[in-house]
Amino acid sequence: MAKLTLNDVTKVYDDAEGTETAVDEASVTVEDGEFLVLVGPSGCGKSTTLRMIAGLETVTEGTVEIGDREVQYLAPSERDVAMVFQSYALYKRMTARQNMGYGLKHSTDMSAEERNRRVRESAELLGIEELLDDKPEAMSGGQKQRVALGRAIVRDPDVFLLDEPLSNLDAKLRSHMRTELQRIQSDLDVTAVYVTHDQTEAMTMADRIAIMNDGVVQQVAPPEVAYDHPNNKFVGAFLGSPSMNTFDAVARGDGDGDAYAIDVDGITLGKVPRGAVEDNIDGESVCFGIRPEDLHLDNLSDDVTDVCQFPATVTITEYQGNDNFVYLDVGDRSLTARVPPGVYPDSGDEVTVRIAAEDVFLFDPETTESIKTRGVGNEHIDTQPITRS
Ligand code: ADP
Repeated sequence: MAKLTLNDVTKVYDDAEGTETAVDEASVTVEDGEFLVLVGPSGCGKSTTLRMIAGLETVTEGTVEIGDREVQYLAPSERDVAMVFQSYALYKRMTARQNMGYGLKHSTDMSAEERNRRVRESAELLGIEELLDDKPEAMSGGQKQRVALGRAIVRDPDVFLLDEPLSNLDAKLRSHMRTELQRIQSDLDVTAVYVTHDQTEAMTMADRIAIMNDGVVQQVAPPEVAYDHPNNKFVGAFLGSPSMNTFDAVARGDGDGDAYAIDVDGITLGKVPRGAVEDNIDGESVCFGIRPEDLHLDNLSDDVTDVCQFPATVTITEYQGNDNFVYLDVGDRSLTARVPPGVYPDSGDEVTVRIAAEDVFLFDPETTESIKTRGVGNEHIDTQPITRS
């Protein structure tokens, strides 16, 4: 077990098609025993980052440290990391037992007895003792994935690296394996970096998430902090489903002077106490954000003060089971609300939408950085700077 540190890690691909910076000065520390999830849209540099940690890809600039060793120039086998891939990458002709023991047999001088003991223990941990004599072709996707995990676990690595390991599984199994993986990681108390493009997977599994976009780490924080206090609009909109509603808006000091009205096309969609925003934004352009669950149709407690309300027309309500999505028109804009199951307005209904000041997000329209996050004070904003060369 060990702490993993990336210092300004950069990867530039330079090939016939030109030069591309896939990862731009990524700096992340994963504490000993921590489960960090690297998340972001396809092509944002997650796999490249993971492969640089594993040693499967060279580092153009920066350092990778495992414990107190700099490892960026070491071969993968010298780094004490184990990687699990989406494709399982099992040897077809070998049984589960042989697949799991293969790395130990060929890269250590461990006795056959010790090897077998480790394979047996890992198989128990994963609940696959019965599969040990089977070959991959006789296994389901979930079973193959467990064998692939077992092969990583037997090596008792310092750092466990997982690249979209659950994407080939069906939804039900994926959700089951998510829980299993968390249990295993916590039982083993191993430092883990898990790559996924699926924000739900990231939010549910991680101790902390590192959100990447366009090669740049945007924020590293516990899921609930990133969700409620995103550093910028990208993080705010990437986390959460349906996505945060965002609109270009103008902040206007309202009549009594102690709040800003946030106007979108002349309609006030939010009111924010002046004290919730550091600088004076009177008359300034802002980007207004509101999460679907914070648009209240008839379910906001009367105790909530600082509420802004406006009329909207329901275009459609989608039944979801444990809640409903209501699509609303306000002027020329469309908003998505997520409401409790009992709230099911018909298409064409005129409704009153209420928004509490504490739920309003504001972003700088130019830099996209947060001006106001959840709450009416800004004390929780993680001000970790984003570097871009
Ligand atoms: P992600 O895992 O987030 O989907 P990747 O790390 O695979 O993203 O890719 C990041 C960027 O680097 C992408 O634009 C991709 O096209 C580019 N890239 C990845 N591998 C190579 C390579 N071997 N050669 C050139 N460009 C690459």
